[in-house]
Formats: sequence, structure tokens, C-alpha cells
Amino acid sequence: MTPKVGVLALQGDFREHLAVLTGLGADAVPVRRARELDQVQGLVIPGGESTVMDKLSRAFGLREPLQERIVDGMPVYGTCAGLIMLSDRVLDALPDQRTLGGLDVTVRRNAFGNQLDSFETDLDVAVLGAPPVHAAFIRAPIVEEVGPAASVVAALGDGRVVAVQQGNLLGTSFHPEITGETRFHEHFLRLL
Ligand code: GLN
Repeated sequence: MTPKVGVLALQGDFREHLAVLTGLGADAVPVRRARELDQVQGLVIPGGESTVMDKLSRAFGLREPLQERIVDGMPVYGTCAGLIMLSDRVLDALPDQRTLGGLDVTVRRNAFGNQLDSFETDLDVAVLGAPPVHAAFIRAPIVEEVGPAASVVAALGDGRVVAVQQGNLLGTSFHPEITGETRFHEHFLRLL
């Protein structure tokens, strides 16, 4: 059976995620309304701007339905701003910014500062095996603290954590959807 998966399409690079998921054989659909969320078995929250995604999810009446599905155990994969949305705690957030939560981690927004705002690097990711993941970081967050319920999936050479998983929730600081890397999406689809 082809799994029906949603990509939160309020803002950000949702089209790239839809293309990767469709390429992997999933029935991938954009989600902007609660009734669309009801019809999917899993969800990707794309990169973009977490403050805007937060505001729009409230304006579209999606915040509570999203939180309910996360608590119910729906598989969710967040990239960059999507990881921020899934995090229980955020540093350098706007004063009124809220997240959906679910991942027992603390992330810091825009953690790489101006000089290294955006960069690409190769990451060894044990759960995905060889070859290394070519990862693009774009004004990316860092996972500064990993609580006992979450586990580290990938870290930079200096030990800074950039991918985490907790049950059916997966988050990466970087954007596999723009570098031709499909293994994180495959890993997510296996959770369905
Ligand atoms: N800096 C953005 C934020 O705080 C995330 C950037 C991205 O998703 N590429 O939401």
C-alpha cells in the first residue's frame, strides 16, 4: 500500500520535499488545513522560517491538530525550521514564538552566525550507513541539548548535534531535500 504523506505547505521549501517523497513512490500531498492533515499517515515539516510557520499554523487553525497528531505518534520529519518546530525548547527565539514540540531537545536558531550562515559538509550518519550524507546548512539551528528521551542521529566533526530522533519524530538541522540525498526521507517513510 502506498503511504499517504503530507508536507506542511504553509511556508518554506515544501515543493522540494513533495518532489523527493513522490520520487520515492509515496503519495505526497501538501497540508494547509486540518482536514488535509486528517488524511495523511505522516508529515514532513520543511525548512523555511520557524517564526512565520508558527504564526501561520496558528492562523490556519493547525497548531492544535498538529500537536494532537504528534502526541498520537504520527511519524514527523522536520528539516531546519521544521526541526525547530518539533523541538520542546528553543534559544534565540522571538519573544512570542512557540513550537509544536515533541522532541526532548533544546535548539538554538541561526546558530552558525553570519560568516557561516550557509555551508555544505559531509556527515557520517550511522543509521544510514555509507556513503556520508552531503548536507546543506542554511541559517541552520544547532541542537544544544539532547534530553534523555531523544537520541543523536548525526553530529558535526566538532561534536555539535545536527540530527536527532525520538520514536517517530526525526529532525535534521540541514536540508537533504536540496542536495539529492533521499536516505533521510526513506528512513522517515520506514516509520510509517
Ligand atoms: N533560521 C530559520 C528559522 O529560524 C531556519 C532556516 C531554514 O529553515 N533554512 O526558522
